[in-house]
Amino acid sequence: MVSKLSTQSIKKNQLVLIGVCSDDNSSFKKGPAAAPPLIRKALYNGSANLSAENGISLANNHRFIDIGDINVGPSVEEFMGIEQHLVDVLERGGIPLTLGGDHAITYPLIKAMARYHQPFSILHFDAHPDLYDELEGNRLSHACPFARIMEDSLVTRLIQVGIRTLNDHQKAQIERFSVESFDMINFDPKSFKPNLKGPVYISFDLDALDPAFAPGVSHFEPGGLTVRDVLGIIQKIDVPIIGADIVEYNPTQDINGMTAMVAAKLLKEIGGMILKSNPE
Ligand code: MN
Ligand code: MN
Repeated sequence: MVSKLSTQSIKKNQLVLIGVCSDDNSSFKKGPAAAPPLIRKALYNGSANLSAENGISLANNHRFIDIGDINVGPSVEEFMGIEQHLVDVLERGGIPLTLGGDHAITYPLIKAMARYHQPFSILHFDAHPDLYDELEGNRLSHACPFARIMEDSLVTRLIQVGIRTLNDHQKAQIERFSVESFDMINFDPKSFKPNLKGPVYISFDLDALDPAFAPGVSHFEPGGLTVRDVLGIIQKIDVPIIGADIVEYNPTQDINGMTAMVAAKLLKEIGGMILKSNPE
């Protein structure tokens, strides 16, 4: 059963918060389906204000609206139906910031984005390239979304940072799809410039961060980025940010809700950059 989002009150170029409760395509551990309300709870828990570092506050901001969560059932139809939910937001001119859910949801999200924005690039933060042709027989696995996106030619450039799990298959997929994949062994977050020429969508898998900063994920991959590293990269973006997702928060793995707070911080900072980079 998929609940309906209340999209009627969305205004043009408003930042629209959506939760997508789905983890049926997670390969190793379930848990991210429960994430959206917990990230919201961290955002509003009263311990911090809602101001982003760029000076934009989400508190009482008429350009920010939260339209709630959708619960996505296990069928392929319901899963691919995520696309239509986002279309309803884009149709009204909203700029979506989606809380996952696992990373599988980015494929239907980008299918919707590509119907309203062309051309655009994706800046993808992740320990994993998520370019598997299939995993355990599932082509919609959370290990595969960017293979589907690139096969469908939905974006002009896919730029990946935080990568530290390359194998021969994923290297071949990077070649095949001309992905700009920056693996951690050679990566300097301070000097990194994606040289974006047009609009960009941010897809943020929390396991891009070192598990020291974000232990609430399904796949621990030590040797990752710091929270400061990723904020520096995001805050330097100088093109319109047309949407974003923050995925793979797994509350069953979290310690004292610290990863929910990191996700809430990213929501604030990416949200602030979305509002700054788009006219009212
Ligand atoms: Mn991922
Ligand atoms: Mn990952």
